[in-house]
Amino acid sequence: MSYKLILFGPPGAGKGTQAALISKEYGLRHISTGDIFRKHMKDQTDLGKEILDYMNKGLLVPDELTIKIALNEIKDLNGFILDGFPRTIEQVKALEQNSSVDAAFYIGVSEDTAIKRLCGRKTCSNKTCNEVYHMVDRKPKLENICDKCNSSLYQRSDDNEETVKTRLKEYNTKTAPLLNHYMHKNKLLMIMKKQ
Ligand code: AMP
Repeated sequence: MSYKLILFGPPGAGKGTQAALISKEYGLRHISTGDIFRKHMKDQTDLGKEILDYMNKGLLVPDELTIKIALNEIKDLNGFILDGFPRTIEQVKALEQNSSVDAAFYIGVSEDTAIKRLCGRKTCSNKTCNEVYHMVDRKPKLENICDKCNSSLYQRSDDNEETVKTRLKEYNTKTAPLLNHYMHKNKLLMIMKKQ
């Protein structure tokens, strides 16, 4: 049985971690638009250069670009878990014109916890590992080295207090309306984690 799932919520809620678990458990393709964009920035592609400013400021990448990238990823797939797409009602509409969705998971987190989590977050640079650490709550045994695979850890350029606050604002104005949308479609599942 294959599913078409969406995961959304404020930055710092743990979407990436949960999406990776669900993807493994159900054999679904994990598609993170944030990861795709970061790869373009790292490889300095034309798209990477175009989105750099938005990403570094914590602003959403324009719908037109994002929709093109996301729809191209899901075409021909029978099952997927979308991590961080859609993030605007425009993106929801584009997705609905191209694919059905079985359920939309909302993961909640308070703004204080989101800021604390993201500002201390470091991630393993090995893309097949992707283990996440926290410099206060979950330190690696050796500084900046992944416990699991010995690769170096990195801090995302948008994981600083000023940018996280912009990302939260973007979430509140542009993504939060998805809650109502999926509730009215009877597709919403809410996961409220302990803070
Ligand atoms: P994430 O890795 O999901 O935290 O996303 C990191 C950044 O990528 C966001 O702050 C946006 O700049 C950009 N981004 C990722 N997904 C989207 C999306 N669906 N729409 C617009 N921008 C996005």
